[in-house]
Amino acid sequence: MAALSDIGTIKDIMQRHGFAFSKGLGQNFLINPSVCPRMAEMGGAQDEWGVLEVGPGIGVLTAELAKRAKKVVAIELDDRLLPVLAETLAEYGNVEIVHGDVMKLDLHQIIAEKFSDCAGVTVCANLPYYITSPVIMSLLENHLPVKAVTVMVQKEAAERICAAVGSRESGALTVAVNYYSQPEILFKVSRGSFMPPPNVDSAVIRMTVRETPPFDVGDEKLFFGMIKAGFSQRRKTLSNSLTSGGFLSRSDAASALNAAEIPLNTRIEALGMDELAKLSRSICNIKQTVI
Ligand code: SAM
Repeated sequence: MAALSDIGTIKDIMQRHGFAFSKGLGQNFLINPSVCPRMAEMGGAQDEWGVLEVGPGIGVLTAELAKRAKKVVAIELDDRLLPVLAETLAEYGNVEIVHGDVMKLDLHQIIAEKFSDCAGVTVCANLPYYITSPVIMSLLENHLPVKAVTVMVQKEAAERICAAVGSRESGALTVAVNYYSQPEILFKVSRGSFMPPPNVDSAVIRMTVRETPPFDVGDEKLFFGMIKAGFSQRRKTLSNSLTSGGFLSRSDAASALNAAEIPLNTRIEALGMDELAKLSRSICNIKQTVI
């Protein structure tokens, strides 16, 4: 099979299968031949391991994963790509395509059923950008038994996810990703590496999943409620952002901030992970006292 990153090959496949790119499904296919081998290597595709891919497209990354891993399961929503993938990946007996929406499938079940004979499982994907954050969050917060999540995302999203918690660049997604994993930017990829080229550059990030949370937050649901309330009004002081939207009463917010030794006029974006965890535990104590 000719190189799947080759523009001529892609055009030939598209013509023969009557395929046209869907902007709505985030279909920007990789044409830079150095990206997929690098992603597969750094994403942990290796002997005896299983890899879960989201959105194989015409299979350019899938083939590189299949060359290195024991088994690759790739979830693709666009049924027009199924006959294409059957052709492009025909030589790899260790690839299985699952037709469906990654946001609706039971990934725990897929991993348990398909990778039971693998030493471990990792996720590697060039994500459709319209669902970057929900896919990352669902992969992490569902506590899937995966070692790492290595994905291509828009450069701005990569920088936000990998920003230090407590810096101006951080957001709710930064905190959540850092709670569940240790994220890092592996390498940047220019917009010209895709067909059709998107309007922005991209980056590959790796989130190495933590076995245990980095800090005791008291109650995860309450912690993420606090993060949501705080960052939805991130320019306000915490005593205001935690009370608007009804997350806490003004007196409870003041008591929690005092107990956590955080000045009332602090903004949430200034707090590091340890301080956020401390504040969450204080809120937890107050709520328990009320009950
Ligand atoms: N992996 C290929 C590559 O690197 O050239 C294609 C990547 S393209 C950015 C994203 C892929 O995700 C497309 O094949 C698209 O059809 C697929 N996709 C979009 N939404 C999806 C969803 N909800 N579930 C599974 N796949 C999806």
